[in-house]
Amino acid sequence: MSAPAFEAWSSPPGEDELRLIPIGGLGEFGMNSLVVHRRNQLFVVDCGQLFPGEEQPGIDRIIPDFAYLEPFGAQVEAVLLTHGHEDHIGALPYFLRQWPCRVYGTAFTLALVAGKLREQGLKPESFLVEVGDYDRVPLGEGFEAEWIPVTHSIPQACSIALHTPWGTVLHSGDFKLDPHPVDGRKTGLRRLRDLGRKGIRVLLSDSTNPGSPGHSSPEQRCVEPLRGAFSATRGKLFLATFSSHIHRIQILLDLAYEEGRKVCLLGRSMERNVRLALDLGLLHLPDDLFIEGGEVSLFPPGKVLVLCTGSQGEPQSALARLIRGEVKGVKLLPGDRILLSSRSIPGNEVAISRMLDAAARLGAETSLAGLGDVHVSGHGCREDLRDYLKAAKPQYFVPVHGTYRHLQAHARIAEEEGWGGDRILMLDEGQCLQLFADDRVAIPGAVPVGKCFVDEGVEHMVDARVVRDRLILQEDGIIFATFLVDRENGGLAGDPTILSRGFVVPSDDGAYAELLATAARRAFEEAPREIQADREALRETLRLALRRVLRKTTQTRPLVVPVILEV
Ligand SMILES: [Zn+2]
Ligand SMILES: [Zn+2]
Repeated sequence: MSAPAFEAWSSPPGEDELRLIPIGGLGEFGMNSLVVHRRNQLFVVDCGQLFPGEEQPGIDRIIPDFAYLEPFGAQVEAVLLTHGHEDHIGALPYFLRQWPCRVYGTAFTLALVAGKLREQGLKPESFLVEVGDYDRVPLGEGFEAEWIPVTHSIPQACSIALHTPWGTVLHSGDFKLDPHPVDGRKTGLRRLRDLGRKGIRVLLSDSTNPGSPGHSSPEQRCVEPLRGAFSATRGKLFLATFSSHIHRIQILLDLAYEEGRKVCLLGRSMERNVRLALDLGLLHLPDDLFIEGGEVSLFPPGKVLVLCTGSQGEPQSALARLIRGEVKGVKLLPGDRILLSSRSIPGNEVAISRMLDAAARLGAETSLAGLGDVHVSGHGCREDLRDYLKAAKPQYFVPVHGTYRHLQAHARIAEEEGWGGDRILMLDEGQCLQLFADDRVAIPGAVPVGKCFVDEGVEHMVDARVVRDRLILQEDGIIFATFLVDRENGGLAGDPTILSRGFVVPSDDGAYAELLATAARRAFEEAPREIQADREALRETLRLALRRVLRKTTQTRPLVVPVILEV
């Protein structure tokens, strides 16, 4: 799916042209961001991060590369947020440092963003502008953004409709169609149909679950299975879920109240998000439900619910610390139960399994047997996606938020509903979709996009080469080859010394170092005079020569570092 380059990317759009460019979020889950570019004005819908995997050792988060914005920097007008999940807001602090601008979103979304900005030393009040459901915000000549409520696994999620001189561009955001949402805030289907009747030019829509048949389960569907877990637990119930999933938390608090359990909150983000939701009136609960960690032992175990972070097995989470016995006043004992009311994000399975194993060793119940679904997805299944598409009836349909196969499966649903191939636009990250005033559309190619690596504690972005080197170190180790060069005549002043770490020597240590030293000496002596005189070129020549020998003799590719010292 690699697209040709869009040659004219650094010149601004023509008067009659609107560009839509997904900077991230296509072909993978995470880093969702869409650039909307008209002459003299740029908007960014969502600004998310990607969680690093094992291929990015030592990296804390991955954010999109917004190189496309550089030629137009001062024209970045605003960021428009659909909701507050990390894959939609996680890159914002880094983005705003480079392109300070207004950020629009609903109250809960902005409350989460504000916390992130403060952590990074930015002042939220200089950026954030709150919007309500169905608000329309003017953004310059003929441009308006409208926030339309949708149901999702976080409060106050929205689709965003951009009303433009090129027609309406609708971004679904993340959604499912839950007819009985916990907070009573329903998807604005009537408004979507309304807009559909008036004409939507382009719909970009969430492709997380097109492979799952039927409608997505309503959030309330997990009430009974969770109730079952409450009554099947003699001891304390330790329940981990995503701390931004306020609807799930409401269900759990209601159940705790009904079942006569006091609630102890554990984990920084859990305490903070519950506080935020209470302040915004998004959580409703009776007084004196909460107890502190230190009070847990004062109540019979069967009368306590501990609501905590750690559903992904994160080693520093409240649940993991608790199992390691590091939480003062709260102990895991036989008869207690650990329950994860969440899905495991791919890549976290091993950490989760290890954590549950440690809990089972302490005598805690960890099995889900007989409980039913204690978690439901926040994303729409096939019929939800179909209903949304039929409500919006866009002229053009662009599947987003998913791997290529997810996008493809979503496109098939559109085909089934009668959208012809020319009305379904399969974009990839960076591919530019041009809308023209006269109804034409074009995809001229891709603009530069990529990933930036953030290692907290390092002031600047980590270069991709550093990440690659870390991977090589982890796989094959490192070899230093030190050359002593005579300053007078430029020749070698002794045999090169070879030192390795993390590298597995194929035979006898000494003999193999000898072999490498000989190859290094030969490479040095055979290098032409002008290369010998140019340190940079010499290092590269020596590196390549050693790598050749290593590959031939060991099939490995350790990091090779030639060190040249003058004597
Ligand atoms: Zn998302
Ligand atoms: Zn989401």
